[in-house]
Amino acid sequence: MTQAPILPQQGQHPQGPGTPAGEPPVAEAIDLVKVYGSGTAQVVALDRVNVRFQRGSFTAIMGPSGSGKSTLMHTLAGLDRITAGRVFLAGLELNTLPDWKLTETRRDKVGFVFQAFNLLPTLTARQNIVLPLDLAGKKVDEQFFNQIVDSLGLAERLSHRPSELSGGQQQRVAIARAMITRPDVIFADEPTGALDTKTGTQLLEYLQRSVRQLGQTIIMVTHDPKAAAYADRGLVLVDGNIVDDITNPTVDSVNAALARLEA
Ligand code: ADP
Repeated sequence: MTQAPILPQQGQHPQGPGTPAGEPPVAEAIDLVKVYGSGTAQVVALDRVNVRFQRGSFTAIMGPSGSGKSTLMHTLAGLDRITAGRVFLAGLELNTLPDWKLTETRRDKVGFVFQAFNLLPTLTARQNIVLPLDLAGKKVDEQFFNQIVDSLGLAERLSHRPSELSGGQQQRVAIARAMITRPDVIFADEPTGALDTKTGTQLLEYLQRSVRQLGQTIIMVTHDPKAAAYADRGLVLVDGNIVDDITNPTVDSVNAALARLEA
């Protein structure tokens, strides 16, 4: 007779520290289901997704429009509640947390970078960058602030408002804002979608360096195989399922995976 698996208690990570498999993942989905709507209008956006993300990894999530990329990102980040299954972030089981704790977890453990930058227009670059700390009532670590700002080439731009900055500069401010809280995971949604190729490339190189040199964890949604090639893992979603998991994706291997979808 096979023994039933011993499930971890609610709120506990199934693979605690010190287990043979090593460090627990920084984010994980177990049998994750997300359904929008009800009755005939029901849409299964995620259909029992199982995935783990290791600390210090850079993952690109790809797939056709409507395949569930944004939903996966939003549920892993605690922006959206799940329908069934379990979601862990930085050791916390998000689906068991009350709203206030979920909000606090997002604020303290997650950074976001969006295609449209989402900076506050009335604030200067510096004010935008330190906003998450201000909201949390935390002091700015000036040394870390300078380190981030210098590495992003923003030192001369700190008193400018977003309208006085180029698209690339605005996105670098958004990245600095995402990094300033030392988040466990940065979620990036088409971060280069609104940038020209050269600026987008510089930004992807920066994201890759932050993973390799600072150990940052990044989960990025993109439809661009060139952007995915900067990641060290490429997940392909179709109809709410992960159908491909590519190690060290290249433009060619990503294009081949996407072509297989149409075959
Ligand atoms: P992608 O990011 O890959 O384009 P999404 O995660 O946005 O895909 O969407 C997955 C599926 O869920 C799609 O069929 C989409 O129409 C549906 N969906 C997404 N958000 C909502 C919502 N708020 N209400 C109803 N359906 C939604």
